Amino acid sequence: MVKVCKFGGTSMASVASITQVKDIILSDPARKFVVVSAPGKRFGDDIKVTDLLLEAYREKCEFGSCGNAFELIRDRFVGLCRDFDLDLDIDRYLDETEAGINNSTSSDFAASRGEYLSALVVAEVLGYRFVDAAEIVKFKVDGTFDAEYTNDLVAALKNAEGGIVIPGFYGRMPDGTIKTFSRGGSDVTGAIVARGVSADVYENWTDVNGFMVTDPRIVKNPRHIAALSYEELRELSYMGASVLHPDSIFPVKYNKIPINIRNTFEPENPGTLILASTDGYDLPLITGIAGRKGNVTILIKKSMMNGEVGFTRKVLSVLERHGISVEHIPTGIDTMSIVLSDVGDASLLEKIVEEIRGAVNPDTVEVVGKIALIAVVGHGMANRLGTAATIFNALYQASVNVRMIDQGSSELNIIVGVEESDYAKAIDAIYHAFF
Ligand code: ASP
Repeated sequence: MVKVCKFGGTSMASVASITQVKDIILSDPARKFVVVSAPGKRFGDDIKVTDLLLEAYREKCEFGSCGNAFELIRDRFVGLCRDFDLDLDIDRYLDETEAGINNSTSSDFAASRGEYLSALVVAEVLGYRFVDAAEIVKFKVDGTFDAEYTNDLVAALKNAEGGIVIPGFYGRMPDGTIKTFSRGGSDVTGAIVARGVSADVYENWTDVNGFMVTDPRIVKNPRHIAALSYEELRELSYMGASVLHPDSIFPVKYNKIPINIRNTFEPENPGTLILASTDGYDLPLITGIAGRKGNVTILIKKSMMNGEVGFTRKVLSVLERHGISVEHIPTGIDTMSIVLSDVGDASLLEKIVEEIRGAVNPDTVEVVGKIALIAVVGHGMANRLGTAATIFNALYQASVNVRMIDQGSSELNIIVGVEESDYAKAIDAIYHAFF
């Protein structure tokens, strides 16, 4: 049995939490491969080390060196090494890091150093070997992740003697520079290592007991999700559930490795299992409800639109030119709504509207007010009557007006768009209709 364990920022934050991590790892000899995040927050308004490092890089860009911001980082790591009474020459690593940030031309090197230093400390605490992610996680020249090359390099560690600690979040480009995944990307590294060493399970240790059916800030004490599928996880994380980086699924998919979300601070809790398939599990009809605000809709009207071959392509080419991906495209005979997640910049939106006008010569094209999208996700709804009826009845009872509806033919989810002001009310109503 081989387990890959990834520990998140809260687990890495203090001497007490790292001691807890040590107990978890040493309690099970299968926990041979450990991937760590950078130290996170120790208390409410504390700052994550990754954010301090990004601040250090900003300081170096503005003033030529990162001295001030770097002091806070130095203090955190020196403090950890002192309290654990480690032999590690942390000052040398910190000096190298500071010099590296002062010499770097992109923020990736700085951002990655929290994981690097954290892994050095944890390896020393455990008496495990440190393996730098730069040596095993590789990107291609175009900046995309090189899955196969990386897999071969990670696989070579499979039969290594003793335990190994690997920093999460980053790898190396062919030119030798460091590149990071997107924020929260240590989860992805954990999944990459799990695939490479053919782990039996990828344990992702965080500070909650796994996934809940919906956001506890909206619904009080929502039910815990015992198990969900890779696809359900992708849907829920994309729509806002933030326990695990959604890209963590791609590496483990190859060997169908289960992911087990666990809580460092409640290790006896079984957490949530994420599986290739949940067939055979006795699970509720609905797995989860997630959503996000800030979506804009471009409404296009043109009579005889449905007969105009290439209309959709021309509209979408405009968005493609601006590198914007589309969330949903509900259409009528003579109308088309393009739902986008927030593009941020109002002038860009105006430009897009102008270009759509030029491309398809519509009767009208306008941006209509922001909507919140809510996804009700669950394999259980496939080929079963009544899910949509329950959702829409609940929204009707709660006096929520539905602005948009979308359901894919895989019947994995039903997505509704509502006014932003109705967002919490709608989630609460849907949750209580099913649970
Ligand atoms: N430290 C990085 C972040 O804060 C990556 C991670 O923790 O997964 O996003």
